[in-house]
Amino acid sequence: MKTPGRSLAEKVKGIKESGAFNIRSEHLPTWCPGCGYFGIHQGLNECIQELAVPHHQVVIVSGIGCAGRYPFFCDTYGLHTVHGRALPVATGVKLANPELTVFAVGGDGDGLAIGGGHLPHVARRDINISYLLFDNSIYGLTKGQPSPSTPMGTRSKASPFGTTDRPLNATLLALTYEASFVARLFAGDPRGIASALVEGTMHEGFSIFHIYSTCVTFDKTFKTWNNLKNWVHPLPEGYDPTDRRQAFDEVLSDDYSIGVIYKRP
Ligand code: SF4
Repeated sequence: MKTPGRSLAEKVKGIKESGAFNIRSEHLPTWCPGCGYFGIHQGLNECIQELAVPHHQVVIVSGIGCAGRYPFFCDTYGLHTVHGRALPVATGVKLANPELTVFAVGGDGDGLAIGGGHLPHVARRDINISYLLFDNSIYGLTKGQPSPSTPMGTRSKASPFGTTDRPLNATLLALTYEASFVARLFAGDPRGIASALVEGTMHEGFSIFHIYSTCVTFDKTFKTWNNLKNWVHPLPEGYDPTDRRQAFDEVLSDDYSIGVIYKRP
């Protein structure tokens, strides 16, 4: 005889009571099982717990895409805005009430294509908000088209003969735009995400977190869990994140070292 499972309401109650995901709302994530975004969710949750910011003082602002759904899954204030516009909206929220802790979130399609023009201006204004760029190098919500960070030659339904464009490197862009805090992270390392987020959120100024993630549904060959696990590794011993020149050398020579790449001294 089949044992009756717990209802959804019971599962949510159990998760809340465990405290393991205490920013999780009653709306369970609708992301595909195995999506890298769950690791990022865990990292942000740990950061907010560690900083002990009351949930009513946290605002999460998103654009459009699978990452755009993020504010629904958090027991904080949130805004699901339009494609590529999370950064200007988050800036407005922070300017209206500087007491709030403001996170902008979005994917590589949202943040590097239609929203790419906002990054340099947010960086030069250096307003105290944190931007989590979920980079899985694909448009997941619209079913697998190449994004601005997809490598050249990638074949997909939308590029059957391989993409012909060179990929953008979000960490390099952030350094070039003189963002005052830049971290490169991995969705499979929620603890590393949490620790960089804590440091970046306390930093006075704009902080960007370029997070390598995976789309398990539409990318079976490039940013898979197996590949990313083999590729990412810590920054070299003795690395000095306050040295901008060293940060450029690192990012230009190594695509997969993770940690705090740069922080303005
Ligand atoms: S389509 Fe890809 S990015 Fe979107 S939720 Fe599914 S696995 Fe995650």
